[in-house]
Amino acid sequence: MKLVILLATSLHSAGCSMKVGHTDPPVASAIAQSASQESEKRVTNQPGNTMGRVFIVMYHHFKPGHGDLYRTPTQFRHDLETYYDMGFRPVLASEYLANKMPLPSGAMPIILTFDDSNPTQVHFLADGSLDPKCALGVWKDFAETHPDFPVHGTFFVLPGEMWGQLHKYRDKKIQLVLSMGSEIESHTMTHPFLNRLTDARVERELGDANITMEKFGQKPPISLALPYGVLPRHTQCFYGFKWKGQKIHFSGVFLAAGPPARSPIDPKIKRFRIPRMAGNWEGDAVGYWLKELKKGKIKSYVQP
Ligand SMILES: [Zn+2]
Repeated sequence: MKLVILLATSLHSAGCSMKVGHTDPPVASAIAQSASQESEKRVTNQPGNTMGRVFIVMYHHFKPGHGDLYRTPTQFRHDLETYYDMGFRPVLASEYLANKMPLPSGAMPIILTFDDSNPTQVHFLADGSLDPKCALGVWKDFAETHPDFPVHGTFFVLPGEMWGQLHKYRDKKIQLVLSMGSEIESHTMTHPFLNRLTDARVERELGDANITMEKFGQKPPISLALPYGVLPRHTQCFYGFKWKGQKIHFSGVFLAAGPPARSPIDPKIKRFRIPRMAGNWEGDAVGYWLKELKKGKIKSYVQP
């Protein structure tokens, strides 16, 4: 069964082109009524459900490859179409954590996250333009024909990587990502197994990364995606610590596996262990959970 009622513009434009005579007030009134119904049209016909699950998807590489770390540009375009047609609309990790998700009525939130700042996520061509085959290029192209699915994604980056082409384009890429309304968050400095480090080394990895994100122009509080999804031995650092004279704290911490996440207002949410699904259609990845959603096995967050 199709869940989606797309926002149609035809009714509205038909109304605008109709001629309304002064002698026919009922027609004018009917037009006004249909225009008002139009503006209230929901993205899906599902009732609001602010306690439903939130889909948080994790992407890595955008090129052919085996396993759930790889998605080709064509497959990613297909993913965007699937999310859109089902009634998902993108929100940022920070908006989810702050429970300020800017969604139209009837829409379901989806958070697209991009780990490791791999070169195929944000790539510039020789002439300095955005490569239409990188993830940002594919999404930008999609958003041009789907303006209600803007390029609002969360990039969990490594300061030493920053999508490659470091010396030539690093700052231009950061500027582009932020200017589109996406965000740049922490994936630590060097992608270590945090459980193998002393508490002091963990603080260095997290503290330096947060300070760097702010230097890049990201507004605090910063969120963190754990390398390999592995927690440090002691997690008190997530609650805040002092580093280089600065107070370091986190709005949330994301894992690298799991089912759709809890609603930001669910009292059972664990802010420092938020699950994410691989952006893939194999195994226990987002494709599986979308099927479960279609079957009614799980309920998604739906904007009232
Ligand atoms: Zn990673």
